[in-house]
Amino acid sequence: MTLGEISPPPRRGVILDRDGTLIDFVRDSDLGSVQSAFHPSHIRFLPGVLEGMRSLSNAGFVLAIATNQPGPAKGQIPMRAVETTHRALLDRLRAEGIEIAQLEVCTHHPDGGPGGDPNLIVNCECRKPKPGMLLTLLRDLNLDPTQTWMVGDSLADVQAGHAAGVHTALLWEEGRCEFCPYKNGESSLIAPIRPTIAAPRFDRLAALVAAGLV
Ligand SMILES: [Mg+2]
Ligand SMILES: [Zn+2]
Repeated sequence: MTLGEISPPPRRGVILDRDGTLIDFVRDSDLGSVQSAFHPSHIRFLPGVLEGMRSLSNAGFVLAIATNQPGPAKGQIPMRAVETTHRALLDRLRAEGIEIAQLEVCTHHPDGGPGGDPNLIVNCECRKPKPGMLLTLLRDLNLDPTQTWMVGDSLADVQAGHAAGVHTALLWEEGRCEFCPYKNGESSLIAPIRPTIAAPRFDRLAALVAAGLV
């Protein structure tokens, strides 16, 4: 037997949503608008995120990001801005001692928008709630789905995690997840798919995941 024939044991991982999970949305109180960060200067980590990511990393989890960024398909944000923002995000995390093994981004949207790149206006297999990005990460990073988590702030994250066969952790706080169906409180939650665990802050969620409570 050669070394090449010995496959390394699968690892455990945490796949992270970006907006509303790691970093905050960009808010304009005058316009009343809420938007995904599209410039390095927009990057603001949410409370407990850096501490939580460090504790997950110290607990032996491989960290990855899976994010929907339909801005280029909708003609709202140039692709270049998405890439620049992601390079800055990974640099900022690295400066904090946090390594992201892989970042997957879906820049598609089924309906697009005015000025959107026609090549990106497709019904793709990667846009969450579909599991495409998660399945890519599981394969590329050799992650064991039974020891891997999807952490996010929306139903689409929970659904994608469920479809990929991983555990799901929902960051949930009343009034904070602007775009998610949980925004009116857990009592309004009629979705058939529920997360494995939920907590209102990233560090608390990370502590539950790192403690291996499932
Ligand atoms: Mg989100
Ligand atoms: Zn896609």
